[in-house]
Amino acid sequence: MKEAVEEQQDFVKDITKMSDDFDRWYTDVVRKAELADWSGVRGMMVVRPYGWSMWETITRAFDDMIKESGHENWAFPLLIPRSFLMKEAEHIEGFAPEVAWVTRAGAGMEELEEPLAVRPTSETIVGSLIRRYIQSHRDLPKLTNQWNSVVRWEMRSRLFLRSREFWWQEGHTFHASAQEAVEEADLILGYYRSIAEDWLAVPVLSGKKSPAETFPGAIHTLTVEGLMRDGLALQMGTSHYFGQNFARAYDISFSNTSNERELCYSTSWGISTRLVGALVMAHGDDSGLIVPPKVAPIQVVVVPIFRDDETRRKVEAFIESWARGLKAAGIRYRVDWRDERPGDKYAHWELKGVPLRLNVGGRDVDAGQVELVDRLSRERRPVPVAGIAERLRVELDAFQTRLYSRAQQFQRDNTFELSTLAEVVAHFRERAGFVWAAWCGDAECEANIKAEAGGVTIRTIDPDEKPSGDCLVCGKPAKYRVSLAKAY
Ligand SMILES: [Zn+2]
Repeated sequence: MKEAVEEQQDFVKDITKMSDDFDRWYTDVVRKAELADWSGVRGMMVVRPYGWSMWETITRAFDDMIKESGHENWAFPLLIPRSFLMKEAEHIEGFAPEVAWVTRAGAGMEELEEPLAVRPTSETIVGSLIRRYIQSHRDLPKLTNQWNSVVRWEMRSRLFLRSREFWWQEGHTFHASAQEAVEEADLILGYYRSIAEDWLAVPVLSGKKSPAETFPGAIHTLTVEGLMRDGLALQMGTSHYFGQNFARAYDISFSNTSNERELCYSTSWGISTRLVGALVMAHGDDSGLIVPPKVAPIQVVVVPIFRDDETRRKVEAFIESWARGLKAAGIRYRVDWRDERPGDKYAHWELKGVPLRLNVGGRDVDAGQVELVDRLSRERRPVPVAGIAERLRVELDAFQTRLYSRAQQFQRDNTFELSTLAEVVAHFRERAGFVWAAWCGDAECEANIKAEAGGVTIRTIDPDEKPSGDCLVCGKPAKYRVSLAKAY
């Protein structure tokens, strides 16, 4: 076992080092860990089983949360008539550059009477149809969600983060009062925070977006923003409050308790497969992925070590004697019997970020133990097989907590407080991370930050703290405390 252990130090040789080139590291890891690949259709990705499994876990967790609070799933068409899309001016203006259209069909490729948009998001078609189902205040709220994919014709592509088609959920809700709709958007933001922090182990800043960053057609947009290991922020979920904007455009009204017609208040919200990219960039290292146990397709991998058939039989019988107990304890594990050298297997599972590895050789069998190797600390510890399922559950929980703490420490180490635009510009010339600053609320000042500091944007408005001091740009009294960052 000794020689195999020595190899483990740098057995993942064929990925770019994170410190050399973060972008290439990211693409190498996503492709070599078999999360996703390009498809042959330009800018469109294939999510491979290992990546899709992580997304499935996220979808189950979130689906449970929204069902618990009374939301229902339904399905809408992929194609949206042009006339539906054009009704909300601000919305269509925001999406127009990214919409793909179906204009022809059939063997003769005949022109359609009306072009059909491939949905970039479904507010317009949901809005056009939901009015059929809402007559009175008794029909409200309508709490709906769809799991689907959408198309946005992006010019630059990046696996998981920016591809022309991605998978997501889109919630659409309709309410009888503004307050209820505002509370709905807040509730969902709390769920998104839980998905990011409790499941993906990524600490997030949450709050409102500035007007310039608000979703087209919304009154306000709420966001959760994580920090990736290159110091760039990533928007990990957004929840929008529309007031009556969409209801006005699509004539969605109800008779209220005083028997008067009133327009509905609505929300929409989404998280996408981009979250798989987030966990890669928030936790990975030079050897590859580190997957939080709660979303890991494989939480524990067992690597048998043997030189001859006799040892193999001995090791196999030993593993069989306790492996079933892992399944019964709900641990997702795999025994790697592939015909490869142990060192190559270590490299394979390290790249894939499996949290815990158990090495099992002939001497371990004699001692009634396994060697536990932790992907995060890389510590190796002998663990007795008596009570191993219980022990691994504890180890997996501890791993999840440590991963979160590490990300939290990274966020703390990369969060700064600055007071002038000159300081912000100088900061982002050298480093990245989150910078807290005071802002007057003026759009011109916001545009100045972006122009002067190389694309730095306001990521969140602090919901809790009032600013002290003056706007970092114009020096007038500040209204908001805001976090700034370069972002994906
Ligand atoms: Zn200002």
